[in-house]
Amino acid sequence: MSSKTRTGTESDCGTGHDSPTLPVVDALSIVMEHVHPITDVERIGIRDALGRILAHDVRSAIDVPGHDNSAMDGYALSAGELPENGVAELRVAGTAWAGRPFADTVGGGECVRIMTGAPIPAGADMVVMQEHVERDGDRVTVTGPPEPGANIRRAGEDIAAATVAVAAGTRLDPAHIGLLASVGQADCEVFRRPRVSFFSTGDELRQVGETLDAGQIYDSNRYTLHGMLTRAGAAVTDLGVIPDRENSLSEAFRAAASSDIIITSGGVSVGDADHVAGVFGENGQILFGSVALKPGRPVVFGTSGSALFFGLPGNPVSAMATFYTFVRPALLKLSGHRGPDPLLTIAAVSRTGCRTRKGRRELLRGFLTATSDGYEVEPAGRQGSGRLSSMGLANCFIVIDETQEDIEPGSTVRVQPFASFV
Ligand code: AMP
Ligand code: MG
Repeated sequence: MSSKTRTGTESDCGTGHDSPTLPVVDALSIVMEHVHPITDVERIGIRDALGRILAHDVRSAIDVPGHDNSAMDGYALSAGELPENGVAELRVAGTAWAGRPFADTVGGGECVRIMTGAPIPAGADMVVMQEHVERDGDRVTVTGPPEPGANIRRAGEDIAAATVAVAAGTRLDPAHIGLLASVGQADCEVFRRPRVSFFSTGDELRQVGETLDAGQIYDSNRYTLHGMLTRAGAAVTDLGVIPDRENSLSEAFRAAASSDIIITSGGVSVGDADHVAGVFGENGQILFGSVALKPGRPVVFGTSGSALFFGLPGNPVSAMATFYTFVRPALLKLSGHRGPDPLLTIAAVSRTGCRTRKGRRELLRGFLTATSDGYEVEPAGRQGSGRLSSMGLANCFIVIDETQEDIEPGSTVRVQPFASFV
């Protein structure tokens, strides 16, 4: 990928004529107020728990490691045997293996050959690396000075008995699965996955595998949504493509009614075929229907019974931007996740200038690179909300806040790296 294909021009960035409405932060607060974390739990094997949210603190019943042990292959001895300056000559009294301890006590004038992970034998209080020792038969010459505790890993220094090894609300990464194993847990209790039903709306949409007639396009949103939802840990039900007809939409909403979250794409703007909010509103409550966000101004949020509803715009980039801005934080909270801010931002220097408009938040697709003293970012591809290719080239959103004016080349901007979304 050449940098040329990623670089937008100034006029790419901030044109458009939609009027400011509800600020993103206020819209997000409304969403989050309506999210009540799942409390149902299930017990599963730790290998199956990857990516799941731990329901309870897991306290260790044991010290990890269980005994003082050697951090090196070398020789265990008493520091008292070594002079401050000069050398000591010691007899090798035996060997301590990982899993096969040296059963005796190390006596005066003695040391023990020891392997990494082997318990420190009684009578020894330091380990000398084998590279620092000269061995001749069963005798070794060791250079001082004495360093009590050297190269010894203490019992419980990783996880002490009775302390929390992995906290409730943690999304289980490979390291956490390993931690659960290291405290001897074969299984664990996790929250059940949020159930999410989703469908696309639009008479022009065809499924992949079908042939396109004049004016038709392939439905891509159900595929990006499936990916984003799966990555966010949802149990998904794909209800397909629904035509722009009120009775078809009612039927689809009925099919989705028992879900924790219902997501649609398309049909939420002001066109004559945009019936989604109207139909949802017949049985549900709409809490907002447009936000000061570009792309993603026409985004609907509502509730129906205990289900949350997100009506995302049909433009493929708008659908992704509104998913990341509203749906993903809601989904994580619903899942019982108590991790870092899902919309983590970092500062980066903008390589290019860009015109923006005050009064709304703009999310530009950006390409972030590390430099010797921080990060630089530039727009990734052309920025139209129908251009999904710009999402394919991007690795972050450049977040231009409501109060920001034009961005000068070399100025500092905030970005949301996509890596923080996984
Ligand atoms: P709408 O929000 O329904 O007005 O759609 C806005 C634009 O997004 C139109 O150009 C639609 O054809 C397009 N669009 C809507 N839904 C999808 C979809 N599922 N996949 C790809 N493009 C879509
Ligand atoms: Mg439509």
